[in-house]
Amino acid sequence: MTVAEQSITEKRYLRTGTPVWAAYRQHPIATQALLAPLKTDLLIVGAGITGALLAEAASAKGLSTILIDRRPPGHGSTAASTALLQFEIDTPLIRLAADIGLETASRIWRRSFRAVRDLVHLARRLQILCDFAERRALYLVGNSLSAVEMEEEGRRRRGAGLPSTFLTHTDLVGLTGIDREAALLSQGSAEVNPVQLTAGLLSRALSRGCRVFAPAELAEVVASSSKVAMVTTEGVEMEAKALVFATGYELADGVPAAGHRRTSTWAFATPPQPRAVRGSAELIWEASDPYLYIRSTSDGRVVVGGEDEDVPDEATRDALLPSKVATLQKKTKALLPWLDATADFSWAGTFGESQNGLPSIGALPDMPNCYAVLGYGGNGITFGVIAAQIIASRICGRPDPDEQLFAFGR
Ligand SMILES: Cc1cc2nc3c(=O)[nH]c(=O)nc-3n(C[C@H](O)[C@H](O)[C@H](O)COP(=O)(O)OP(=O)(O)OC[C@H]3O[C@@H](n4cnc5c(N)ncnc54)[C@H](O)[C@@H]3O)c2cc1C
Repeated sequence: MTVAEQSITEKRYLRTGTPVWAAYRQHPIATQALLAPLKTDLLIVGAGITGALLAEAASAKGLSTILIDRRPPGHGSTAASTALLQFEIDTPLIRLAADIGLETASRIWRRSFRAVRDLVHLARRLQILCDFAERRALYLVGNSLSAVEMEEEGRRRRGAGLPSTFLTHTDLVGLTGIDREAALLSQGSAEVNPVQLTAGLLSRALSRGCRVFAPAELAEVVASSSKVAMVTTEGVEMEAKALVFATGYELADGVPAAGHRRTSTWAFATPPQPRAVRGSAELIWEASDPYLYIRSTSDGRVVVGGEDEDVPDEATRDALLPSKVATLQKKTKALLPWLDATADFSWAGTFGESQNGLPSIGALPDMPNCYAVLGYGGNGITFGVIAAQIIASRICGRPDPDEQLFAFGR
């Protein structure tokens, strides 16, 4: 291969400010310098949460696995994630069903539910210290879903076997103190420290022989039916039986991105406070555009995010941080007046959305033995779990029955 100095992916300033995870212990990840050519079964580009989930799944199946990243592991979008692990997809089931049919939409929602359950079991089985906690989620009526639609959404979800209960205004106020017209309360979600989860998954993969090279940046790929040949920006050659682009919101050449777009998002975290989010709903989000979502940390900080907006560049996104946080604080106080909404931490990040809230996962149409994950939407981590399951199974020759639901060009 020729030496290519240009990266195969675009370069973005993925985040700014200080995410709340800076307040907690960081677990070190052993990386190596990439100095000599190498060969492997699977090469994963990107050592964020998606790459870590893939590395864990592939190494558990006995594949020799290598990750490369141009940043330190977990320092991309993963470090900015608020890490609500929700099975509830951004597009309500009633809307997704109208778009692609009830049966397919229900299967996708059920798979998302299973992904959160699988991650709960995985984190528990691997004993990863990452403040993982199972949570109930409250989905509030807002400007994009009325109370009548919310009730129908609940009926559809229960019809699909999903645990969502409709709450009237009286139920909601009695249970949570929140004054909204109605809501759905669902079991089956969770929350986590995403940086610690990424480190824990990588450390389990490393213990099975996986290696992480950083900083190392992929520049060029030549894919054939027998192998994938690659070269880094430093000119080091690599060869793999399969390649996965787990590059988050930095798109790689050759990955079809129609229907996906990048936007911006903002978040803040309060000081620790007791019983911050009251009642039996520990994650809160709303059916609004722009939306607000709320979780808490193991030591009682409240993490709030949302106000997503298209802005032309990262400098504008960053300049908006103070005013966006002020808006998030105001909305939080309106919803939960008893909270201290002081911003101890605040940050902004690039975010990705797809037209129907679904990810694209799987084989790339024009690059044999190459795969990609575009886990766009508010469920990026949940979609990362599904991606790891689908791609690891495919590479091992046992295709996942849900593969087509998320495939590129489906
Ligand atoms: C503020 C915010 C809040 C969010 N909240 C939630 C939430 O509550 N729940 C949820 O599920 N999701 C949430 N998300 C989305 C979720 O965080 C992302 O989907 C997820 O972190 C993406 O992980 P990743 O590993 O795919 O990408 P990243 O963490 O960005 O990792 C990709 C890696 O690829 C590397 N890379 C790129 N190109 C190359 C190259 N050419 N060579 C080598 N390395 C390369 C990058 O350096 C990077 O480290 C949120 C995102 C943001 C920004």
